[in-house]
Amino acid sequence: MFDLHCHSVHSDGTLTPADLVARAALRGVTVLALTDHDDTGGLAAARAAAGEHNMRLIDGVEISVTWRGCTLHVVGLGIDPRNAALQAGLAATRSGRVERARRMAAALDELGIAGSFEGARRFAGNPQMIGRTHFARFLKQRGVVKDINAAFKRFLGSSQPCYVPQLWASLDDAVRWINGSGGVAVIAHPDRYPLDSALMRELLAEFSDLGGAAIEVISSNHRHRCREFAEYTRHYGLAASTGSDFHSPEEGYHDIGSLPALPAGVTPVWQMLAESGIPCPAS
Ligand code: AMP
Ligand code: MN
Ligand code: MN
Ligand code: MN
Repeated sequence: MFDLHCHSVHSDGTLTPADLVARAALRGVTVLALTDHDDTGGLAAARAAAGEHNMRLIDGVEISVTWRGCTLHVVGLGIDPRNAALQAGLAATRSGRVERARRMAAALDELGIAGSFEGARRFAGNPQMIGRTHFARFLKQRGVVKDINAAFKRFLGSSQPCYVPQLWASLDDAVRWINGSGGVAVIAHPDRYPLDSALMRELLAEFSDLGGAAIEVISSNHRHRCREFAEYTRHYGLAASTGSDFHSPEEGYHDIGSLPALPAGVTPVWQMLAESGIPCPAS
């Protein structure tokens, strides 16, 4: 079973790469891509662990992108983490996070919730990658909210009082960094964006023109829209990917693995990976 999207403590997951790989193996995953946000620091440990579990590891990353004022996530699969242009791009994308976290903490301070910068940082395994999920965990720990979803609903979501907008990478740069390092670019969880169907079509046309390769047709975020996204892949000549976007065993997100099969009539992204010479079974 393929699972081509998940997170470790190197971004906002809670498991180490080794524990993540072990959990994936136990749950029947045979090909796993670790796709931490804007950082590839977990890949070496994940690869070592995958070797012990007879699992194929695909080197991945999930790049934060700003497109027409909207935050999108673009997954790179089969990237080369040693590629200098990719690493420079990821470093630039990460660079505003600490300042942004200070501004989120200031906004929480104003609401009478003190100490959130230090509190969130304690949850960030990778201090450079401090983000909203770490603040959500802090708010839960403090007892301000009952779960992390509520933290996004009340404080951290894009129209909530502690949201701090950020200018991430451009779509063009993200696709170029991924392709330039030998990987393929995938639009992550397409249902999560506030785009109507006209804008979604513009995004996919632009992504395809830039050399983007695939869309996540199966994602734990959108089981009910999978036929619609399958249709988009055919229309824009894109392949179809599948990933749980797993972050933590405790947070009620979908677990790693156990994803439904891709619908018939799409080109699986792993076929494309195999054709690009990335070691990956084609089925
Ligand atoms: P950031 O990159 O710091 O803006 O954080 C984005 C991360 O927040 C995403 O990758 C998700 O892991 C998490 N996230 C976003 N919205 C929600 C939500 N409604 N519930 C739980 N987690 C969320
Ligand atoms: Mn995340
Ligand atoms: Mn994402
Ligand atoms: Mn993700």
